[in-house]
Amino acid sequence: MTDMNFRAVLTGSFSTPCADNPTVAMIEAAYRHDGIDARYINCDVQPENLAAAVAGARAMEWVGFNCSLPHKVAVIEYLDELAESARIIGAVNCVSIRDGRLIGDNTDGKGFLASLQKAADPKGKKVLLLGAGGAARAIAVELGLAGAAHITIANRNRDKAEAIATLIRDNTKSEATTIEWAGDLAVPDGIDVVINATSIGLGDAQAMPKIDRDSFRPNHVVADVIPNPPMTKLLREAKARGCTTLDGLGMLVNQGVIGVELWLDRKPSADVMVQTLQDIFNVSD
Ligand code: NDP
Repeated sequence: MTDMNFRAVLTGSFSTPCADNPTVAMIEAAYRHDGIDARYINCDVQPENLAAAVAGARAMEWVGFNCSLPHKVAVIEYLDELAESARIIGAVNCVSIRDGRLIGDNTDGKGFLASLQKAADPKGKKVLLLGAGGAARAIAVELGLAGAAHITIANRNRDKAEAIATLIRDNTKSEATTIEWAGDLAVPDGIDVVINATSIGLGDAQAMPKIDRDSFRPNHVVADVIPNPPMTKLLREAKARGCTTLDGLGMLVNQGVIGVELWLDRKPSADVMVQTLQDIFNVSD
């Protein structure tokens, strides 16, 4: 009798704490802008409720959800399938539900790579990766799958860096070596891309990873995962020395774009997402 449809497509996020996660604002702004009748519900899910939350999403026919801390590893046991990089990384932050089947992906590294590709194709490049936590692991795996020639992983705790290097050597064609990071680190000769994947700089515009800034060269692409404040001290120092810089907002936005593409099979407006985050973080271009 009518074409009216009062049923929105459901997506969202499971994490705890979740109140400071701006992803909902970013994704719903894109839904509104693109006229997509979908919602993104930011849910606080305690670890003991993760199984029920996943079952609920399936029962309510959500098309997908993000999983953030502390659920990125724990969610895997409730899924039917894993994409290649999620399997190698051993963590999932984006789940798609298709015909009742749950498919786990990892968009942390993919979001970074989409951002990097605007400045440089990682294929054949030599990369210095600072940090060996979850973000570094995801980025290293995507760089390896994208054909980076060599990844040098520098971390205070060298065992964690070694674990990632082994993962890269065992699962991709890239070379990977490690550096125990103590004191100011000079960018080694031949490096094309420097990535800060530590948490240094988060919420502190003056914090800077211990790196010899005079070893930056104009041909370096210097990227930071820190989304807030986006223009970190590392990026300011690199820019002052003529490097191409990439901020962590791009990584965050591209993760949103990739998630919506996986769930709805359509590309949302990245510009609207960037603008929304810039407004939230009080950033001007
Ligand atoms: P983890 O806690 O897993 O890892 C933190 C890393 O930072 C470790 O390698 C740690 O070294 C290193 N580190 C922390 N403090 C110092 C220090 N003072 N000196 C040297 N190294 C230090 O965190 P994640 O990997 O999950 O996240 C890292 C950052 O990435 C966070 O700030 C997060 O906001 C950001 N991120 C951004 C995303 C985006 O879309 N823009 C997506 C995901 C994460 P050690 O092992 O020696 O302790």
